[in-house]
Amino acid sequence: GTILSLSGVTKSYTGQTGAVTPVLDGIDLAVEEGEFIAILGFSGAGKTTLISTIAGLVEPDAGEIRLRGAPIDGPGKDRGLVFQSYSLLPWLTVEKNVALAVDAVHKDRSKAERAALVRQKVELVGLGHAMDRKPAQLSGGMRQRVSVARALAMEPEILLLDEPLSALDALTRAKLQDEIERIRKEEKRTIILVTNDVDEALLLADRVAVLTPAPAARIGRIFTVDVPR
Ligand code: ADP
Ligand code: ADP
Repeated sequence: GTILSLSGVTKSYTGQTGAVTPVLDGIDLAVEEGEFIAILGFSGAGKTTLISTIAGLVEPDAGEIRLRGAPIDGPGKDRGLVFQSYSLLPWLTVEKNVALAVDAVHKDRSKAERAALVRQKVELVGLGHAMDRKPAQLSGGMRQRVSVARALAMEPEILLLDEPLSALDALTRAKLQDEIERIRKEEKRTIILVTNDVDEALLLADRVAVLTPAPAARIGRIFTVDVPR
């Protein structure tokens, strides 16, 4: 069934001079439970704005976003977000960075349960050996894996990935794409990936939603394509 639905989601930004930039124009999109959907578009097409509305970080001017039928109300632990720039706290170890999110979200669980969850997700992304390292002692690919582990440890219903690989070199990106595929098989979670990389979208996703670029009349429209497997 449908886990997430957007209907008529519309958003413009108003600059300091009062100039209005329309970005999303009546976006309709239904995401099925367990589906991996990629949102593909050029830089400036509105991808980050779209995923931010889903994350509850940006409020649409019009339209509605429902999670399991209920309108979303701001950010929630049901939606875990991984940004383009890994927002890890530099003074904390890998373990502590992930634990911070786990402690915030899973208050109902015992200390031992939370510690086990942290270890499981860090191991899942292949960093079991690096639990005690700080971000400065990690490569870019490793840091982005920590961000993914942190989001997974929150056990969100939907994993939102906003260009998680775009800042990485081609080889590291390819490795992490494999990693995401493997995680997907193990976790069976609904995933929404924002990317400007056609190959990446086709490699990873079941369905690709194309967000058309900004120029005037064609702003913020969307259509989807099924990826044959
Ligand atoms: P993408 O992620 O596809 O590159 P964005 O959603 O970041 O696209 O941006 C879409 C458009 O909205 C761009 O023209 C961008 O300049 C503009 N924009 C994004 N965020 C803001 C903001 N906070 N204030 C004003 N304009 C913004
Ligand atoms: P990734 O594919 O995750 O970016 P790399 O290929 O860059 O990893 O690095 C391979 C290995 O080298 C890592 O598993 C890590 O142990 C080590 N490494 C890479 N960069 C650093 C660094 N800045 N500090 C310490 N170890 C590093």
